[in-house]
Amino acid sequence: MRVHNLQLYWLIDWDWHLVAGKQRFGKVGQGCLTFKNAISNLPTFSSRPSRSSVKKSGMKTRKERAEYVGRKLEELYPEVPIPLDHTDAFTLLIAVLLSAQCTDKRVNLVTPALFAKASTPEAMMKLSVEEILECIKTCGLANSKAKNIKKLAEVVVNEYDGVVPADFQKLERLAGVGHKTASVVMIHAFKIPAFPVDTHIHRLAQRWGLTKGKNVEQTEADLKKLYPKEKWEDLHLQFITYGREYCTARGCDGTVCEICRTTYPNRKKPFVANKA
Ligand code: SF4
Repeated sequence: MRVHNLQLYWLIDWDWHLVAGKQRFGKVGQGCLTFKNAISNLPTFSSRPSRSSVKKSGMKTRKERAEYVGRKLEELYPEVPIPLDHTDAFTLLIAVLLSAQCTDKRVNLVTPALFAKASTPEAMMKLSVEEILECIKTCGLANSKAKNIKKLAEVVVNEYDGVVPADFQKLERLAGVGHKTASVVMIHAFKIPAFPVDTHIHRLAQRWGLTKGKNVEQTEADLKKLYPKEKWEDLHLQFITYGREYCTARGCDGTVCEICRTTYPNRKKPFVANKA
């Protein structure tokens, strides 16, 4: 009988096959089948085990995990809209600023009234802090956000001719605008490569073994190395959408979802992520 190489490989190398072999052939020395008969009883190729049964060892490299995570997120969220309602770079900037310590849903509830009064930097700088506050008072940190929005509008008008600058340093100098907010505006409004990392992305990237980042800056740097620039915009939204849908801050031990189980199938203890 001709023995196929792949059959021999199965016999020698796979845990799965050794288990199947014991069941099928009995123990050596107990009058079991000969090796020749054993080979002839091997399963046909159509009964070859699925890849999922070979996942016991998980994914060894960060690159492997990144590729898998990217593919899975693309499958789950082929189209991901920007969750903050806006019409241009200025309204996106204001919406992102408002979203700190506040849900996107809440921001989308308050911005229509605010943008009805002022949707341009010129109009916004003419509103008083009290008028801005009246529109956004149900958002967290409303007092400081109202002051920052007015100051920011004044700077955009006075220093940048009323045009939101497509420049990280200039954006980050605006009142209430940090690196993450600037990155969101750069990538989504201006399509200039950026990978904004918030707490959701920071936590997920750790749980999926894409970074050991102790802070969002390290996590951002690691994610940028793992994924090509043209994927950053989608991935930013896909990570956030997944994080909000499945992965709550302290609610999971990292053994429930398919992505965690595939990247770390042997995880037994709750995974504690570094805070942002
Ligand atoms: S298993 Fe838990 S930690 Fe992992 S992605 Fe799902 S919810 Fe998040």
